[in-house]
Formats: sequence, structure tokens, C-alpha cells
Amino acid sequence: MAGLTGIRWLRQLVLGLSCLLLLSTCSFSNGPTAGGKTLTIATEPTYPPFEFQSATGELQGFDIDLMNAIAQSAGFQVKYQRMPFDGMIPALQAQTVDAAVAAMTITAQRAKTISFSRPYFKSGVAIATRIDNQNITNFDSLKNKIIGVQIGTTGAQKAQNIPGAEVRTFNDSPLTLQALLNGNVDAVLNDQVVILYGIKSGNLKGLKVVSSLLTEEFYGIPTPKGSPYLQTINQGLATVLKNGTYSQIYQKWFGIQPPQLPEKSPIENQTSEGVSELLTSLGIIWKSLPVLLGGALITLQLTVLSVLLGTLAGSLIGIVRLHPAPFLRSCARGYVEFFRGTPLLVQIFMIYFGLPAVVQSFGFTFSLNRLAAAVIALSLNSAAYIAEIVRGGIQSIEPGQAEAAQSLGLSSVQTMRYVIFPQALRRMLPPLGNQFISLLKDTSLVAVIGFEELFRKGQLIVAQNYRSFEIYAAVALVYLFLTLLSSQAFSRWERSLNPVKEKRN
Ligand code: GLN
Repeated sequence: MAGLTGIRWLRQLVLGLSCLLLLSTCSFSNGPTAGGKTLTIATEPTYPPFEFQSATGELQGFDIDLMNAIAQSAGFQVKYQRMPFDGMIPALQAQTVDAAVAAMTITAQRAKTISFSRPYFKSGVAIATRIDNQNITNFDSLKNKIIGVQIGTTGAQKAQNIPGAEVRTFNDSPLTLQALLNGNVDAVLNDQVVILYGIKSGNLKGLKVVSSLLTEEFYGIPTPKGSPYLQTINQGLATVLKNGTYSQIYQKWFGIQPPQLPEKSPIENQTSEGVSELLTSLGIIWKSLPVLLGGALITLQLTVLSVLLGTLAGSLIGIVRLHPAPFLRSCARGYVEFFRGTPLLVQIFMIYFGLPAVVQSFGFTFSLNRLAAAVIALSLNSAAYIAEIVRGGIQSIEPGQAEAAQSLGLSSVQTMRYVIFPQALRRMLPPLGNQFISLLKDTSLVAVIGFEELFRKGQLIVAQNYRSFEIYAAVALVYLFLTLLSSQAFSRWERSLNPVKEKRN
């Protein structure tokens, strides 16, 4: 009885603690308040000189100094929240953040879903290329070239207008510029100040900016539509512009006097009514379906190719794991431990961005195409898991079977082929099916190298229409459809290998 009360008490305690945890992670806002309030500001600190991290992890940059100055003059506190640039507009729409400071250009399309402060910086997109590239001299010479851009940026939008170009999208600006340094892309379209700052600071040695600005843009501080803080931010910004603080910050980061800024944004903030009318959720999903299905096809190709190569390599390694020679056994084991013990994402980065950089540092020209890099990374990784499945499958067959086969006069290769392997395969199939499904989902990780598989296609659509819920729900459903299909195929295969045909399962 006492034990039962104890358990009940424990259960209540766990429940209570879970609720507390849940409550502490949710934030409830209780309407507009002005001074003394802490605003959550989104930023992506990979965009020097606007926002970046010091060696000790502190946020710094022109935008950060400006935001802090605005907060001080308008009397609110700031809490920065780091997030990817392409996630900011959805976060503002969902009101998980109060504003963002991220060198964000005021555009008509963005102004349909969020509201911008008055302009605080004059900017524009420029072309970056490698110093030794003589072919790219202006926008027209980008025709039929491979262009690197950061997802969801004005540079990415501009790249859509280049005839015949292959546009590769990366998650942030450093990755885009690294792809250019590695020779994976011919040119990058990015905000000019950012490229110039990178070249000047020595981090982007080997790059140059060609021709003049492709666009004229103004940065603004975005807030959710109808936000009560927009006015506060605008007032703070007006004050720092007037009292000389803005000019001080500008000189600190750029060493020159700031140019004249317009008081009003060239693009008016629009009312939110237009947005809800845009399209119904189902309409949005329907419209994006062909693109998503195209991505699903690429995901499938990638999975099948990597599984085939992974199974080939994995079977070999699995067999070597059982080899009598201890050295070979340890090599195979080392392989498995390394690829199983390090994140797949890190492996993808190492192969696509790291490997060419290392090879080039020895004076060779070498760049990996995305498909090759993705297939190599996925196959190497899945080979480690498949090796363990193969080893386990073979070891699970009782030694008596091999002895019996050999006493019947079968050679060891024949024993493996006709006795051990067919039985082991049946035991290996369920874990192999799991592996296939994991790999199918893991292909979404190669989006980081700009590979446009299913997930990336979804991200690209969201970067245009900002309807993250509908699009990611559709992406999830397509993945689910693919995994259900594969698990069906594997159970059929399993059944076909079963000598005692069962009706169930
Ligand atoms: N100014 C560009 C844009 O708004 C890029 C901003 C960024 O990458 N942080 O699209």
C-alpha cells in the first residue's frame, strides 16, 4: 500500500516537473508595453561586419551596436536570439521574436508579410569571383555560369534573372564564399559590403569584387505586422540618427562618414489583409507539389545510389570484421567506429568543403561536384552501419551449420554462398530496411551543400512565399509517403525470402 502511494507521489512529481518545464519554455506575451520591456531580437551572426561573433562568442558588428544604441535611447532591453536568415521572416510572422537585426533589405515582397522600420543602411548586391577569373566582368558575363547564393537573400533573387545559370543555394554567407574559394561555384552574389569586408580582413584572400553594384537596397529592422514595437524602434532609430550616435557607429565599422539616408522607406509597409488573401493553405501546398515531387525523385536517386554503394562497401567491411587477421579486423573496426561515431553533417562538410581546400593547399586544382560529395558522404556513413548489420547477420548463424556443410564436402566459399549467406540475409533484412529508411531521411542533410533534394526544395519555396507551416507539412508528408513505400517493399522482400510462407505481416 505504502509502495503504491509512493509510486503515485512520484508520478505526480514527474508530471508536475514536466508541466513546469513546459511552461518555462513557452513565452506568453501580455500585450503591448513600452519602456523597460525586453525585446527578443533575431540575428544571424555569420554576416560580418553587420553581425558576427568574437572569439569569445560575444555578438558584435554594426547592426548589434546600432540595435543596442536604439534600445538604449528608446528605453528597452534586448535579448538576441540566433537563427538562420531564412528562418527570420517565418519567426517574425509567428511572433516568436519581436524584431530582427540582420542586414535585411527592405523589399516589396517581404513588406507584404512583415513591417520594416525606416531605412538604416544603404547597400547593394555585388558579384564576387576568384582573382584569377578573367571571364566574369559584369552581370551579362554570368550567363551559363554556376552561381552561389545564400538562401532567401536578395542575391538569390537577383541570380534568378541570369539566363542559363545554375544557381546553388547555401545556408549562410560564409559557406557560399567558401564554395567560391573552393571552386565549386564560379561567382557569388552577395551584399557588397560583406564581400569587401571579408577581403579586407584577409579572410577571403583570393577573391575580388567585379563591376558595380547590381542593385540599390536599404536595410531595415523588421517586426511582425502590426507590432506595437515598430514605432518604438523607429523613434529610437530617429534619435540615434540625429544625435550623432549613428555616425559614430558607422565610422567605427566603415571608417567613413555615413551617406544620407531617406527618412521613409522606398517601399511602404502593407497591411496584413493582402497576405491572408494570397492563397489558401491547400492551394499553396497544391501549387508547390510538382516542385516537391521533383525533389522527392532526387532524394530517391540519392538514397538508392548511396545504399547500393554503401551495401557494397559495408558487406566487404563486415566480412573483414570477421577476418582471422587481427590487423585487418582492427582496420575495419576503426572505420566503423569513425563513421558511426561522428555526425553525418560533419562528414558532409569535411568532404565537400574541407577536402578540396586541403587538396588545393598542396597546389592541386580539385573540386568535388555536389552529387559526388553527397553520394560519397552518405555511402561512407551507411557502409559503417551496414558492416555491423552484415557482421551481426553472419555471426548469428550457428557454427554447427558451417561444420555440417563442410563435412558434406562444400568449400568455405560454397558454405558461405549456399548455407550461411541465404540465412543471414533473412536476418539482415529488417535492420537493412531500417538503414534504408534512415538514409532516406538523412539525405535531407545534404541540403547544406546546396543539393536540391526534397527538403531543400521546400526551403526554397518557403524562402519565396514564407508559408513555412504548409510547405514543411507537405515535405513531411512526402517523406512519410516515401518511407512507407520503402518499408512495404522491404516487408515484401522479407516475405519472399521466407521458406515458410506466412499470410500475416
Ligand atoms: N541584405 C540581404 C537580404 O536582405 C542579405 C542579408 C543577410 O544575409 N543577412 O537579402
